[in-house]
Amino acid sequence: MAKDDFDVIVVGSGAGGGMAAHSLTQDGLRVLMLEAGRDYQPATETPMFNRPSQAPLRGEGTPDKPFGYFDATIDGGWEVHGEPYTVAPGSDEFKWWRPRMLGGRTNHWGRIALRFGPYDFQSRSRDGLGVDWPISYEELAPWYDRTETLVGVTGLAHGLENTPDSPPGVHHVPPPPRAHEVMMTRAFKAMGIPVAAMRGAVITRPIDGRGACLYTTDCGRGCSVAANFQSTTVLLPPARATGQLTIRTQAVVYQVDIGPDGRARGVSFVDRLHGTHHSVRARTVVLAAGACASARILLNSRSPRFPDGVGNDHGLVGRYLMDTVGTSTVAHVPMLEKLPRRNDEGMSLSHIYVPWWGYQQQARKELDFPRGYHIEPGGGQRMPGMSFGDMAMMSPISHGPGLRAELGRKYGAFVSFDGRGEMIPNDDCFLDLDPTVKDRWGIPVPRFHWKWSQHEERQAAHMRRTFLEVIEKFGGTPVWGTETDGKTAISKGGEMIHEVGGVRMGRSEKDSVVDSYGRAWAVRNLFVLDGAILPTNPDKNPTLSILALAWRGAAHLAKLAKRSEL
Ligand SMILES: Cc1cc2nc3c(=O)[nH]c(=O)nc-3n(C[C@H](O)[C@H](O)[C@H](O)COP(=O)(O)OP(=O)(O)OC[C@H]3O[C@@H](n4cnc5c(N)ncnc54)[C@H](O)[C@@H]3O)c2cc1C
Repeated sequence: MAKDDFDVIVVGSGAGGGMAAHSLTQDGLRVLMLEAGRDYQPATETPMFNRPSQAPLRGEGTPDKPFGYFDATIDGGWEVHGEPYTVAPGSDEFKWWRPRMLGGRTNHWGRIALRFGPYDFQSRSRDGLGVDWPISYEELAPWYDRTETLVGVTGLAHGLENTPDSPPGVHHVPPPPRAHEVMMTRAFKAMGIPVAAMRGAVITRPIDGRGACLYTTDCGRGCSVAANFQSTTVLLPPARATGQLTIRTQAVVYQVDIGPDGRARGVSFVDRLHGTHHSVRARTVVLAAGACASARILLNSRSPRFPDGVGNDHGLVGRYLMDTVGTSTVAHVPMLEKLPRRNDEGMSLSHIYVPWWGYQQQARKELDFPRGYHIEPGGGQRMPGMSFGDMAMMSPISHGPGLRAELGRKYGAFVSFDGRGEMIPNDDCFLDLDPTVKDRWGIPVPRFHWKWSQHEERQAAHMRRTFLEVIEKFGGTPVWGTETDGKTAISKGGEMIHEVGGVRMGRSEKDSVVDSYGRAWAVRNLFVLDGAILPTNPDKNPTLSILALAWRGAAHLAKLAKRSEL
């Protein structure tokens, strides 16, 4: 590849990288995408209709395939061979999930696609904690509209506080609630808590050559008819069709190359299969390798101008790493035992969710924690996997027809509640480079530092108390997740796989690494367009916002490129 063959190098092909490549190529720029993982073709590789009996261990998760044998993550996971990371001594545990495949985590994400609300951009002004964003909801709203139109997101307008509706015609009609969801809705409403139709990145009417959802299989396996959103089915094919996109897989980028003029001139990467090192050049570089991977690349990009890493003049790269606060509870519900057999496959995500309802209580100082959480309910009669066996563990009958009858009776009579809450950025949560540990190519690996604050622990305790109250309302019995001490109930750092921050955006280089378009203050032809740039992590799952911000940033990049201002 010759110098200046490309206008832009995009590192990573997931939500941020896929959207950047989509936008840049539509704007006529020549893009080289470098992706650390292998190529992946959902149309031919998705095990959409396979049954558990066709898989080893009936499809149960293993260290290589933690989300099950048929999960779309064909390479990557909690551990990646030869690519370790470390957790600093004295730190609480942190887990780092990494994909190694074209399309990244978008191939198997949960598809819950929520807009941040107006309060979420101005949180420090509201309660004095964390930081405000350099942009408002109103500035991002048109990009949410565009993103939802392209991606396809289900939803209804409910007019709820800090839970923005989309313009008419944007949302796809959501599938109706299933029996357990109707039951849960009644119970929540009896507690004065509103319930909304799920905002899911799954289309229910055909668009752009994509088929509507067939309600047949788990979205986490990927989707060969492209009904759910994956970068590999929705973003990369149209980008390729422009003729402007070149993709090189198995390319692990480890540094941004800085020229004597202090500008980015390209990146260096190692070929994952052969271990050979390469450097490629372009007029502009976009990092979108996932929040922690992008921060690591910046920290590893050392030069006389940037001895501590690119953009790290103020020591901010790697700082203010965040995840989502998580807890769960599972309950057995006798009322659901009496229902006839039905096919509950539906969208594999819930058809309803519970947006945060406590803004006014917080304004009146009635709660002991700031910021909100939402609830993602689960349950129903879906294709049983090995977890079906958990019911046998709970049965007083150990074998034979009695056990079979018991399992038949209880199948579909368990529900779950997952709370997902906002974490406030703090000084104890960050990544730097491990001083001694290196990956198999000799590149320093990230070292994580983690500590939840009292805000998150109290929020986790409130989640559990809410779950127990609603379970009591519909006459259920909690069978797992009853501990209401927030310190014990809360998830581990990184476990929710919503890690964001580390290269945060802001109004000036004193408080941030990039501006609101993801453009590095210190290197004006370098952009970061993934979750790393989020200055806060609202309870609403981050990916829709990552997509909208990446589109906004890439469109700005293209405008500057056309005016020769990069
Ligand atoms: C099981 C699961 C469920 C989830 N559910 C939801 C949900 O319901 N809603 C939601 O909003 N979010 C969800 N998420 C999170 C969501 O997947 C991420 O927020 C989103 O994919 C982040 O986009 P990204 O572009 O930053 O990173 P990714 O999508 O991870 O893409 C990064 C890409 O960069 C590549 N890469 C990494 N390092 C390098 C390197 N050095 N050189 C070159 N390439 C590199 C990776 O291989 C990958 O392809 C879920 C994630 C998981 C794993």
